[in-house]
Amino acid sequence: MAIGTSRLRIGLFSGLLYFVLSAIAINPVHSSGVATFWPATPVLLALLLARSRRKWKAILIGATIGSLLASSLFGFGVVNAIPMAAAKIGEVVVAIGLFNRLNVRRGSFGSLDRIWRYVVAVGIVAPALGATIAAGVTAMRYDLSFAGQWRTWFVGHGLSMVALTPLLSLLFSGATLRWWRGAARRTRGEAMVLLTTTAIIAAGVFGQNTLPLLFLPILPVMLTTFRLGLIGAAAAIIVLAMIGGYATLHGMGPANYVSDNLNLRLEFLQLYIACTVLTAFPVAADLSRRQSLYRRLRESEARYRVLADHSTDIVLSVDRSGRVCYLSPSIEPLLGKTPEALLGSRALELVHSLDRDIVLVAHRDAILAPQGTQIVECRMRVTSGALHWFEAHTRAVTDDHGVVSGTVSMVRDVTHRKALEAELSRAASTDPLTGLANRRAFDAALAHRIDAAVAGDRGGCVAIFDLDHFKSVNDRFGHDAGDHVLQSFARIARGVLRETDVVARLGGEEFGVLFPGADIAQAQFLSERLRATVAATQLRHGQASVRLTVSAGIASIDVSSSAAAVLRAADRALYAAKAEGRDRLQLAA
Ligand code: GH3
Ligand code: MG
Ligand code: MG
Repeated sequence: MAIGTSRLRIGLFSGLLYFVLSAIAINPVHSSGVATFWPATPVLLALLLARSRRKWKAILIGATIGSLLASSLFGFGVVNAIPMAAAKIGEVVVAIGLFNRLNVRRGSFGSLDRIWRYVVAVGIVAPALGATIAAGVTAMRYDLSFAGQWRTWFVGHGLSMVALTPLLSLLFSGATLRWWRGAARRTRGEAMVLLTTTAIIAAGVFGQNTLPLLFLPILPVMLTTFRLGLIGAAAAIIVLAMIGGYATLHGMGPANYVSDNLNLRLEFLQLYIACTVLTAFPVAADLSRRQSLYRRLRESEARYRVLADHSTDIVLSVDRSGRVCYLSPSIEPLLGKTPEALLGSRALELVHSLDRDIVLVAHRDAILAPQGTQIVECRMRVTSGALHWFEAHTRAVTDDHGVVSGTVSMVRDVTHRKALEAELSRAASTDPLTGLANRRAFDAALAHRIDAAVAGDRGGCVAIFDLDHFKSVNDRFGHDAGDHVLQSFARIARGVLRETDVVARLGGEEFGVLFPGADIAQAQFLSERLRATVAATQLRHGQASVRLTVSAGIASIDVSSSAAAVLRAADRALYAAKAEGRDRLQLAA
């Protein structure tokens, strides 16, 4: 019911408006055929644009009745009223149909491309259709020239739709009022000053008949457009159109230079207003697009700045040459320098000299492969003087044209993680009782050695040491004493052997030694030194004094042999040493 009432109301409003506007326009010029200036057309089109599609039917029916009444009473009579209404309402239906297909939002004329299509649809196609019907009727009825009537209609209706519809639709949609209500006092004041200026200049230009100063009002119109956007442009052009219209109707202003004929003067004025609209509206549309782009950019910049400024990670962006463009404040507690102090400096200087190469490679790789993320670990010296480990995730930053302008990195302090990792890997390769390498680490070192030998490096030798009669140490002095003896052997071995030799506890009281790059004579010499030192050492555990001997088997690493084969050979030699009476070395056969 409510919808019904509102449709009825808009229908009545539309009918009344159309009737009044038709009555005004028909009167002065009806004797010479179709009217030059037909305000009802742009008003009706603007009303349709400003209202939802559900109300279009009511608006069009109202306008058709208004048109029929006006034509019958003041115009071409009852007989011609029907085809004339078809021409007038028909062209508006065609215009709104085409306009709708352009997908133009209400009150917005979007891009230049849309404005161009708007001009074709509303300024050319629709009035051409209306002109054809109307000129046909008037030419037949009043014996007027079809071409002349067609031209008058086409120019008058086309120009008035192009010039006035955008302005009127802003008024009808309430956008102008909403803008006024939402505007700050200062903006309202500025609007008043700008519109008053436009009015004064328009009055000056149209109030005289000496100089063709039509270009002058463009200045305040454009100024208002720049300051106040689309609404400002519309308001300024309405002021200009009203003053220009009044002056032209009263024989004043530059339109007089065109002709004595009022029709031609009005056409000229409409062309002038249409051109002004087509100048100011695209500028306003582009300005508002830029403004919203700028606002979005500012919002997103603020959002990311909040993230960067409050992150414990360091956000770093550098240009292609590696100079700092941005650093987040999280750098300050770490390095004791403000981001500002580091701007423009080379980011690489923050990195420890040992890691500069890999950081540089990551930076270059990020630039060369803009799609990928480079992850690199590096050390930096922090305020306390300690070296901290950092992990940097680096990506290229590209501009609109896909050209890399620099890189951005998220840098995280991973010192804790690195320490934990180091501890874990040490634990995984260390024997807890003696602190020597364990079997796993020994096997890995041996495999590495064999690989090196295969690659042409010198191989080396392996010795397996086994403590003699160790069971009896446990039996006589207890398990603790046994443990102590194992630790003592480890200490002696580390002292006697070379820094590069790998000493490992293979299990129980059995130890392996890897002599990288040593020939059998060197390995024998070093092993003998260890055996002799052990034999000569008096080990103490509490009150007890323990004498210990050790036997060993030595084998050289052969390019063609596997790790298992080398260990087997050394083990066989050890077995032989035990069989020979212990406390001795045996070379593998
Ligand atoms: P030999 O090698 O000279 O033939 O005699 P052995 O007494 O050393 O012989 P065997 O290899 O049989 O004995 C090894 C002993 O080492 C057995 C075990 O009780 C002892 N043992 C193994 N691991 C540990 C350990 O971690 N701590 C202590 N205290 N003893 C261990
Ligand atoms: Mg043993
Ligand atoms: Mg033993």
